[in-house]
This record gives sequence, C-alpha cells and structure tokens, in this order.
Amino acid sequence: AKKQGKNRYFWFEEAMESELRFRSELETGIRRGIPRGEFVPFYEQQIDLDTGEIAGFEMLARWQSPTLGLVGPDVFIPVAEDIGVIAELSENLIDQALAHARDWDPALSLSVNISPIQLRDPWFAQKILKLLVKHNFPPNRLDIEITESCLHDNIGVVRSIITSLKNQGVTISLDDFGTGFSSLAQLRTLPFDRLKIDRSFVSELATEEHSDKLVRAIVSLGDGLDLPITAEGIEDTAILDKLRSMGRLKGQGYFYGRPESIAEVRARLSAAGKL
Ligand code: C2E
Ligand code: CA
Ligand code: CA
Ligand code: CA
Repeated sequence: AKKQGKNRYFWFEEAMESELRFRSELETGIRRGIPRGEFVPFYEQQIDLDTGEIAGFEMLARWQSPTLGLVGPDVFIPVAEDIGVIAELSENLIDQALAHARDWDPALSLSVNISPIQLRDPWFAQKILKLLVKHNFPPNRLDIEITESCLHDNIGVVRSIITSLKNQGVTISLDDFGTGFSSLAQLRTLPFDRLKIDRSFVSELATEEHSDKLVRAIVSLGDGLDLPITAEGIEDTAILDKLRSMGRLKGQGYFYGRPESIAEVRARLSAAGKL
C-alpha cells in the first residue's frame, strides 16, 4: 500500500508538471503568435430573422497555432488576459476585422467582443476611434459586445469610455444577457443599444417550457425598453420558428452556419451580391 501511495504521488507530480509545461508553452506561443499574425478573425453571421437576410457578422477570434492547430478563444483569451497581452491581441484582431469589413456591403455591421480588462484603460475609446479612422470605417457599422463582468469594477471609467464611443456612433450590446447575477440592474448602468439573449436560454427554447417563458419575458422587456434583441445559439428550425413568433429579432447560431474564415465570408457575400 505504501508503494502504491508513492507511485500515486509521483503520478500526481508528473501530471502537475506537464500541466505547468503546457501552460508555459501556451504563454510563449501566444506572445510569439501575435506579431506573427497567427491570431485571425473568424465570423458568425447575424441574421434579421424577419427577412432571413444577413445583417452583419460577429468577429470570433481564432488562433492558427503552428503546433496546436486551430485553437478557440475559450483557451487563449483567459491566458492572454493573465499575461497582459489581451489589449494588444484584441487591437490586432479588430484592425484585421475592420480591413475585412470595409469591403462588405455598407449595410452590414461588424460586432466585436472585448475583455473587461480593456475597459479599465482610459484610452480604450481613443484606440478604437483611431482604428476606425485608419480604415475609414463608419463608426455606426461597429458594434461592441460587452458582458456583465465588464460592469463590475470601476464603472466610472467604463461609463466614460462607452459615452465617447457612443458619441461617435459606435453601438454597444449587452452580451450573454440573463446569465449574470444582476442583469436587470445592469440595464440602468449604461445606455445599451441592444441585448443579446444568452445561448443557454435559446438552445432550450423548443424543449424546455421555462426557457420558452424566460425568452418571451426578455423579448417583452426589450420591447418595453425600446432595446432591440439578438438571440444567439439558434440551432434548428423549431427554435427559429418560436423566436420568429415572438417579434422582430435578430439571431445567430449554427443553424445559419459555423463561424467562418474571411475567405468563406467573401465567397458567401460575393454569391449574395454583398461584396
Ligand atoms: P460569445 O461572445 O458568447 O460567442 C458565442 C460563442 O458561441 C462562439 O464560440 C460561437 O462559435 C458559439 N456559438 C454560436 N452559435 C452557436 C450555436 O448555435 N450552438 C452552440 N453550441 N454554440 C454556438 P467561440 O467562437 O468559441 O467563442 C467563445 C467566447 O470567446 C465568445 O463567447 C466570446 O466571449 C469570447 N471571444 C471570442 N472572440 C473574442 C475576442 O476577440 N476578444 C474577447 N475578449 N473575447 C472573445
Ligand atoms: Ca459575443
Ligand atoms: Ca454571447
Ligand atoms: Ca458567451
């Protein structure tokens, strides 16, 4: 028994060690990958559910790692935040995305996700406006998605950033609505332009009675507050039909397609005469 315990200890230590090694390889890979252009925007269509037409795209970051392959943001965003390179990474991605979206039909919007850490930087709004000028990109085509976790610290700085951006015409969406601790209270803190209903409610819409009721309640809340709504996570026609019966919404999800590379986006838009 003693021997077994010892082996187990060694096994544990080895597992810890290899996890630490993986983590430090991730950190090095991310630092190196940014200037090498390994981080690229992918895009998910955002649809006007009434007409079925594309209204715009949400940029979702991907890492084309030479050793790991295509890596998703849930892996590298938290690490980039920890090691202090999230702002550099995000600006690099937004720079690329603005260059892409400039070529699209001017009616199409571009939504980007940002980290709470970026909203602690008093110069954030200026950085975004500088990129808009660089690409001669109309500010009202850019939408910034923020989550409730952005609103917890230093609300004064956050508010002044949001105000500067909105004064230039940039719109602000509250992402993952319904998942936070105080979603309703957050609606008072900032003048949002849109609510995005979290995927966890939408994906259960057709199968769970309480999700159906919750989504209906959020939609009527949006009506009452004059806040347009986007439903994320539309995976099938049953969900789509229910949403369409609730009002005039935008939506996105795997039903319309997975996030795509810029080459795929261009092919799609070109076929639709929107490039
Ligand atoms: P999010 O903003 O809530 O984005 C939606 C996520 O759900 C995306 O995952 C998307 O691919 C996925 N999704 C969309 N439709 C469906 C569906 O019908 N079914 C299911 N099961 N999933 C669907 P992804 O691309 O892995 O992104 C994960 C999260 O990473 C995003 O969640 C966002 O919070 C964050 N993220 C992505 N890009 C960036 C970025 O450039 N900066 C920052 N700070 N965060 C980012
Ligand atoms: Ca989002
Ligand atoms: Ca979301
Ligand atoms: Ca999310």
